[in-house]
Amino acid sequence: MGSKFALIGSGLAGGLLGAFLGRRGYEIDLYERRADPREGNVVGGRSINLALSTRGIHALQQLGIADEILQHAIPMRGRMIHEKSGSLHFSPYDRDPRKCINSIGRGALNTVVIEAAQRYPNVRVQFNHRCTDVDLDAPAAQLLNLSTSQPLIASADTIIGVDGAFSAVRSSMQRLDRFEYSQSYLAHGYKELTIPPGADGSWRMEKYALHIWPRKSFMMIALPNPDGSFTCTLFWEFEGARSFATVTTNDDIRRFFDDEFPDAVPLMPALLDDFRENPTGSLVTIRCAPWHYADRVALVGDAAHAVVPFYGQGMNAAFEDCVVFDECLAEFPNDRKRAFAEYFARRKANADALADLAVHNFIEMRDKTASRTFRAKKKLDHALEGLLPGLYLPLYTMVTFTRIPYAEAARRSRRQDLILYAGLTAVASLFLALLLGMVRALTG
Ligand SMILES: Cc1cc2nc3c(=O)[nH]c(=O)nc-3n(C[C@H](O)[C@H](O)[C@H](O)COP(=O)(O)OP(=O)(O)OC[C@H]3O[C@@H](n4cnc5c(N)ncnc54)[C@H](O)[C@@H]3O)c2cc1C
Repeated sequence: MGSKFALIGSGLAGGLLGAFLGRRGYEIDLYERRADPREGNVVGGRSINLALSTRGIHALQQLGIADEILQHAIPMRGRMIHEKSGSLHFSPYDRDPRKCINSIGRGALNTVVIEAAQRYPNVRVQFNHRCTDVDLDAPAAQLLNLSTSQPLIASADTIIGVDGAFSAVRSSMQRLDRFEYSQSYLAHGYKELTIPPGADGSWRMEKYALHIWPRKSFMMIALPNPDGSFTCTLFWEFEGARSFATVTTNDDIRRFFDDEFPDAVPLMPALLDDFRENPTGSLVTIRCAPWHYADRVALVGDAAHAVVPFYGQGMNAAFEDCVVFDECLAEFPNDRKRAFAEYFARRKANADALADLAVHNFIEMRDKTASRTFRAKKKLDHALEGLLPGLYLPLYTMVTFTRIPYAEAARRSRRQDLILYAGLTAVASLFLALLLGMVRALTG
C-alpha cells in the first residue's frame, strides 16, 4: 500500500490524526490555511474554549498526551444555573462528584496535538496553505500558498479532509454521483463575550462549573479559563422582535442584558464593545455519505459530520473518529478501501445520533434546566443509577462519561425512559386503585 498521506486542515482533528498516522510510520503532509497557532491568534472567531470529556480524553491517552492537555484544563463538575432573580442552583453532572467535563482553550489544545504530530520526523506541517480543490482520482489537492500567493499541487496516495464544517475536500466529493449531503441551520446564532478576571486575577463566579442563564427560547453560557476569565456565549435568535437583528443600539443591548442577565452585567465591563466587535456565528448540522472515495480520499471530524455544540461533543466525536480510523487502518493494512468503508460503517450511525442529541439538548439547556422538574429528574436519574448499578445509566452520563457508541446510548436511554414511565404509571395506577378501594370501604 502507498504510504503517503496529505491531510487538509490541521485543526483539532487534523493535528491528532496526523499524530496517529505519523505513529503508524506513514509519510504525512498536513496543509493548514491558517497561520501556526503558536504564533497566537488561533481563534478566528470560533469558541475559544471547549468542553473535553471521556471520549476525547481516551483518544488523547492513546497518544500519551492526555495529561499534558489536562494540565491546561479546568474541571467543571456541574451546571450552575443563574435565574433572573440572581438565585443560583448547582446541578452536578454525575452522582460521582469526581466526574467532570474539562474547559480547555482551543489554542492550547491545537498546539499540543500539532506538536504531538510533529514529534514524528515523517510528519510535516505547512501553515498558510489553503486547499482550493481536490482531484479525487489522482488523488491530488490544489493548494494556494497564502504567504507567496503561489498555487501548488500536493499528490499523495490518500488525501484526508480534516478541514472542518465547510470542508473543501468534501465540496470536491459533492460533485460525485449519488453523494449524499444535507445541511441544516438553527434559527439561533452565537456571540462570544467576556467576563475578565478580578483585580487579583481570581474567577468572579464559581470556577469549577459550566454557567447557564436559561431563558426559554435563548440562553447564555460561560466556561472558565485558566487566566481567571470566563468566555460567555450568547445563543440567540438571528431574527425576531428581540434578536440579533433588532437589538442593535447601545441602549437596546444594555437594556436586553439588564433585563435578562442582571447578575452578569456588572462582571462584563466590555460588554458593549464585545457585542459590537465579535462576530455572530451560525450553528449548522451537516450530514453526508459516504465519508470516503474508494481508497483515495476520506473525511474525518466536522468535515464528515458537523453538529451543533449543545452536547459539548463535536470535538470529542472528531477525536473518537481518529481512534476508529487508526483502528481500521490497523485491521486492514493491505486493503485501504475496506479500512475506509469499515470506518464509515462504524461511525456514520453514531454521528447521526449525536447530531439529533445535540439539537435536542439545546432545548434542555435553554429551557428545561431552569425548572424544578429538571432538577428533580436529574436527582431521580442519579438515584436510579445508584440503585440499579450497570442497569440504569442517565443519557448525559452515557454520552459524556462513557464510550458507549452514541447511537446505542440514544437507544438505551429511550428504552430506560419507557420502562421508567411504564413503572411510574403502574405505581400511580396501583396507588389510585388502593385509594379508591379505601374510599369505597369507608363510604360503603
Ligand atoms: C460555539 C461552539 C462551541 C463548541 N463547543 C464544543 C465543546 O464544548 N466540546 C466539543 O467537543 N466540541 C465543541 N464544538 C465543536 C468543535 O469546535 C468541533 O467539532 C471541532 O473543532 C472539530 O474539529 P475539526 O478538526 O474537525 O474541525 P476544525 O476544528 O474546524 O478544524 C478544521 C481546520 O481545517 C482548516 N481548514 C479549513 N478549510 C481549509 C482549507 N480549504 N484548506 C486548508 N485548511 C483548511 C481550518 O483552518 C481548521 O484549522 C463547538 C463548536 C462551536 C461552534
